[in-house]
Amino acid sequence: MKIHEYQGKEVLKKYGVPVPRGIPCFSVDEALAAAKTLGGPVWVVKAQIHAGGRGKGGGVKLARSMDEVKAHACSILGMQLKTHQTGPEGQKVRRLLVEEGADIKKELYVGMVVDRATQRVTLMASSEGGMDIEEVAEHSPEKIHKVHVDPSRGLTDAEADDVSVKIGVPPASVPQARAVLQGLYKAFWETDASLAEINPLILTGDGKVIALDAKLNLDSNALYRHPELTALRDLDEEDPAEIEASKFDLSYIQLDGDIGCLVNGAGLAMATMDTIKLFGGEPANFLDVGGGATTEKVTEAFKIMLRNPKLKAILVNIFGGIMRCDVIAEGVIGASKAVGLKVPLVVRMKGTNEDIGKKMLKESGLPIISADTMAEAAQKVVAAAKG
Ligand code: ADP
Ligand code: MG
Repeated sequence: MKIHEYQGKEVLKKYGVPVPRGIPCFSVDEALAAAKTLGGPVWVVKAQIHAGGRGKGGGVKLARSMDEVKAHACSILGMQLKTHQTGPEGQKVRRLLVEEGADIKKELYVGMVVDRATQRVTLMASSEGGMDIEEVAEHSPEKIHKVHVDPSRGLTDAEADDVSVKIGVPPASVPQARAVLQGLYKAFWETDASLAEINPLILTGDGKVIALDAKLNLDSNALYRHPELTALRDLDEEDPAEIEASKFDLSYIQLDGDIGCLVNGAGLAMATMDTIKLFGGEPANFLDVGGGATTEKVTEAFKIMLRNPKLKAILVNIFGGIMRCDVIAEGVIGASKAVGLKVPLVVRMKGTNEDIGKKMLKESGLPIISADTMAEAAQKVVAAAKG
């Protein structure tokens, strides 16, 4: 789950990371009142959306007067903000953060993720912070320093100081940078984050170390441990199809292609998408109906897929282990009738009660195309999608 910058900053603040004073706003009037409360002379009006790259897209603006605060709040609120992370259609801005303008001397980068190779929380840090960190990572990866943190010790003073010096923090500010890095690590650990990033972390003219941006992604599987963080969810920022799917406990991710996939098991779902691509098709979604897919669940899954205007065909690929093929067949038939299926449907099922399932599909009278192997199923659905 993603959260907004201002929410991320609230979390980091609790872990001792200094952030500028700021107030979240939902209207231009609130933005003006916030600027007044904060006091001048410089404010920054920042679009709050669940995507980075807002600065380059025109979603972060400096204001030197109340009139400018008003003008920026007017233009940013409601805008369709396009960044390299939003996709071409952009994301509508519904919230702002008005914060005090900082005196930036240098912009640094610090971020944490779980590194799969070392199986450790890994700190990445660079002297080249700011809006072009992706280019640094691509063209001069040697400028990104990494520390794989030992979970039994946490991020040590020595590790934090060493990285701070490497990214150009002057000696007098190293203790502050250490506190920021250790606070970030503790926040990452205790919130069950999958990503925690401060870009930029700045050095101010008077040697202070402050987080000017905050990105915190939380592991959805751990949210049950954090009701206070779950409350930060902003459904406006999420894909409506994915929200609908989560209500029925379906793992669904919207993609760009035109072939809907309904599969049981995440691994088989990935393999199915790969096979579709191998035969020249493009999956419209990832969908894992899980082990206990009922007729109701399969029906909902069909409905969600069919809402996608790009959809040209559907592939159902089921391995009947604990899940029996006849149950799935019943679900597929029921769902196809319930939703009045208008696109070609290819079904491949293997495993328990496969013969009964196939017979049911055949006798249903529905124009279902059946397939025996993954390759055959993928080829048939790709052909059906091409019409
Ligand atoms: P994004 O990463 O989405 O572009 P940021 O919050 O990093 O958004 O803001 C982009 C840039 O705007 C920062 O790199 C920084 O230069 C500037 N900026 C952001 N917040 C402030 C602030 N409070 N004071 C001064 N400059 C800021
Ligand atoms: Mg940033």
